[in-house]
Amino acid sequence: MSNGMDDRRRGLEEEYFHRKNQEAIEKLRAKMRLAAHAKEAGVSSMKCPRCEGGVLKEIFIEDVPIDMCDKCAGVWLDSGEMEKLTQTDIARWFRSLWGRMEE
Ligand SMILES: [Zn+2]
Repeated sequence: MSNGMDDRRRGLEEEYFHRKNQEAIEKLRAKMRLAAHAKEAGVSSMKCPRCEGGVLKEIFIEDVPIDMCDKCAGVWLDSGEMEKLTQTDIARWFRSLWGRMEE
């Protein structure tokens, strides 16, 4: 009897987490679609995840594309961009970035 209850509860928990995972994956997919569209169009319409009203703009620093917020100057890297970054002269890269921010 109690075993049956445990199994049932476990089943419900699994179902709950499965559904939560599906939701998270769907959200991520929607986000990636948005980013892909923006990239194709050559503009980033991504909103800054940190501040209100900030828009992420793609800029190139040492040939590495990064998304920078036009409001708070927050910097966001897509997957793969960090990898490219590690292949550049990282100190020089950061100097370029900071120089860009002070413009
Ligand atoms: Zn921002």
